[in-house]
Parts: sequence; structure tokens; C-alpha cells
Amino acid sequence: MSLYQRACRVIPGGVDSPVRAFGSVGGDPVFIARASGPYLYDTDGREYVDAVGSWGPALLGHAHPEVVRAVQEAAARGLSFGAPTEAEVELAEAVRARVPEAAKVRFVSTGTEACMTAIRLARGATGRDLIVKFAGCYHGHSDGLLAAAGSGVATQGLPGSAGVTAATAGQTIVVPYNDEAALEAVFDAYPDQIAAVITEPAPANMGVVPPAVGFNAFLRAITARHGALLIFDEVLTGFRVHRSGWWGLERSAVETPPLVETPPLVELVETTAPAPKASTGSPNAAPDLFTFGKVVGGGMPLAAIGGRADVMDLLAPLGPVYQAGTLSGNPLATAAGIATLRLADINVYAAVDAVSSDLQAAVNEALFEVGVPHLVQSAGSLFTVFFGDFDRPITDYAAAQRQDSAAFARFFHAMLDAGVALPPSGYEAWFLSAAHDDAALNRIVEALPGAARAALGAA
Ligand SMILES: *Cc1c(COP(=O)(O)O)cnc(C)c1O
Repeated sequence: MSLYQRACRVIPGGVDSPVRAFGSVGGDPVFIARASGPYLYDTDGREYVDAVGSWGPALLGHAHPEVVRAVQEAAARGLSFGAPTEAEVELAEAVRARVPEAAKVRFVSTGTEACMTAIRLARGATGRDLIVKFAGCYHGHSDGLLAAAGSGVATQGLPGSAGVTAATAGQTIVVPYNDEAALEAVFDAYPDQIAAVITEPAPANMGVVPPAVGFNAFLRAITARHGALLIFDEVLTGFRVHRSGWWGLERSAVETPPLVETPPLVELVETTAPAPKASTGSPNAAPDLFTFGKVVGGGMPLAAIGGRADVMDLLAPLGPVYQAGTLSGNPLATAAGIATLRLADINVYAAVDAVSSDLQAAVNEALFEVGVPHLVQSAGSLFTVFFGDFDRPITDYAAAQRQDSAAFARFFHAMLDAGVALPPSGYEAWFLSAAHDDAALNRIVEALPGAARAALGAA
């Protein structure tokens, strides 16, 4: 009996998270025994270059010796105490040093918990019930956030999830991504009822679909105008696309002086409007709340909610919004997070950016060479190869769903056969790491021509 068959006898579908199943690409999932740097090793001892990165956390590559040592040392001191520790303070300080707008931080164990708590906090802060999310954005699997949730749900071809009550689903309003008019209409239709808009500031769970220029600033402005909170879910992008996440990347792009000198703004804009006071008044201001996960836990179960101190202080024990966790801020997880953030310096981000752009170029070339219709979309170092005939960029979930899943499945399996592990779904980003050196990159590049022919169906 194969390990997968054994697994299926005791674990539903043989997997503990549906994205690990090969549902949309066919075949049996590969069971991994160990990993090192950019490589995975399956239970038969086969080596793969990994482009899944544990779905995001492995920014430094797998089993970085310093991260492993930090976790081992923490384990020797005790696995969990149910009492506060210095490491939690240190990690919270490290998060705030990178994202100063996360003035206060609360650690939890999963991104799902972080987003669920951010929503509860927004409702507690505003006294309102409704939540707005965007179709194709994924914010974990809590009941209220599973509507049109992209990623795993999309891969399974499900509209949402059974087991979510109509009452709960009815409190989540789903709007097409990048659609300002649709969001304006929702705010007009539900005056003073919307607690928060939650967004992936650069969505990567419907495949990578970057925000239109100014879209995040628009979200900031419209939520502020209507007294709703804005939540940036950076569980995936946080500390991965930039040392300060997508928020840091977008802001650094704005702050970088343009190459061509432009006339000063005052000459163009006639204004007597007072400068916005609170952070929420300015379209370039930060969201009220962030959620983080994946990289911040360095491969261990750890995630966080961060944001405005006045909102965060509504959490128990200071405030009336209850939230708790037996293993929250666990010593092993915080040790991995601290070590990972300490190691993730500008060289790491530069290395991941470089390997990502080289690989995007190589994939493009290999697919063009053979004549496979496709579109590569990126957000920072994250990118997705959408198979299919697209005559314009994909800007929302409806367009992302027009991808050719069969071509992707053929490409995926050809890559896997050649020793490259891609995410087993066309709705995911490829995740690279600072450990992807020339040797690892070359192995991916060498696998591309054969996989491109397979995608065409001409293998
Ligand atoms: C992965 C992810 C989550 C959920 O995190 P888990 O740790 O899997 O619960 C939430 N939001 C985004 C954007 C994610 O990518």
C-alpha cells in the first residue's frame, strides 16, 4: 500500500490542508520526508527544486541552520509555558521596527485566526456588523471569510463552503477586485453598517493579481470617509515581497524620487483644504489593521494582528473584544520568527527579487518559444503563470478563472517529472527563496522547454 493510500484511510483525502492534494492537476500528492535550502526530498529519496516554499514561509530556504538552531535552543528551554515570554516582546518589536504603523501586535498561531480576530476587532471598534471582501482574496477559513475565497476553494471548484450559515454569509459582502465603482455602490447601499474592508493589498490567492495604481489609496480614502476600518491582510506578502511587506514596497515606490523632474504639486493643485489629521484621512495613510503570517513565523505556526494602538487596545485584557490562545506566541514559533526576521536583510530580498525576475523571464521565453498562450503576472517577487489566451492583464477573479487549467496541469506534471515542485494549482504564486542559487535556478530553467511542450499538449 502506498503512503498516500495509507493516509487516505485515516485522513480525509489523505491531506491536512486541501491545497496539498493534487485535486486540480490529477495524480497523487508527493509525500515529503525532509527539505534543505531550495530542495525537497520525498519519501522515496527523490530530490525536487522547490517553488512552493511551504506556501510562503520559506523565504530563507528550508531548514536554515540558524533558524533551526534557534528553535532547538528554545525547545531545550521548554515547549510552552502559558505565560508571557521575552521572545514575544522581541518579535513584536521586530515587527513594529519594519512596519511602524503596526504600533501594537498580538500573536496567534495561524493566518486564519489573525484575520478572524481582525474582523472581530473591527466590529468591536465600530459597532457595525457588515464586512466587505474582494472576490478571489483569501483570508483563511473562518466562516465569514470563505465567500469567493480563491485559492484552495477555487482549486476545488467550490463556490464557497458548506457548513457556513446563511446568517453568517449574509454579513460578508463580496465585491470584484480593482472595482472602485462597485465598492462605492456597496457603501452607498449600506450606510453606517460596514465595519471593515479586508483586502490582500497585492492579491496572490487567485493567482497574482496586482492592485491597480491607486487602488489601495482609494480603499484607504473610502473607508475613512465612511467610518469603516481598512484591514491589509499581509499574511502572504508580509516580510516576503519587501522587508516591510507590500505596504512597505508600495510606499517605497511612492517615496522614490521620479527620474524626470516634475513641477511641484502646489502649482498644479489649488487647495485650501486642511491637511488631513488622523492617519485615516490621507489616501496614502496606512490601513488601520494588518494581519501577518507565513514568513513572520519562519515555518512555525505563528501569525499576528497589528495596527493602530487605540484599536488594538480594544483586545482583552484591556478592552471588550475577546481573543485568546493556549499556544499563542509559542516559544518555538517566536524563536523561528525572530531568527528569520533577523536574517531577512536587504540582501535576502534582493536575492529573491533577482531569482524571481530571472525565472519569470525564462518561463516567458520557454512558453513563447513553443507558442503556449500565457500571461505572467507579478507583485514584487511573487508571480503566477496564467495559461490561456489573455489579451489584457488579469485584474479580477472572474478573469483569473478563464485560465486553462488543463494546460497548467500538463505543465505542472512535466515539471514535477523533471524534479521541480510547483504549487499544484493555477491559482497560486510561485514562491522562491534566498537559497535558490544558480544551480537550483538552472534546474528549473532546464525543465521549462519540455514542460512548455507538455502544456501545448504536444509532448
Ligand atoms: C495563507 C493565508 C491566510 C491563512 O493563513 P493560515 O495560516 O493558512 O491560516 C490568510 N490570508 C492570506 C492572504 C493567506 O495567504
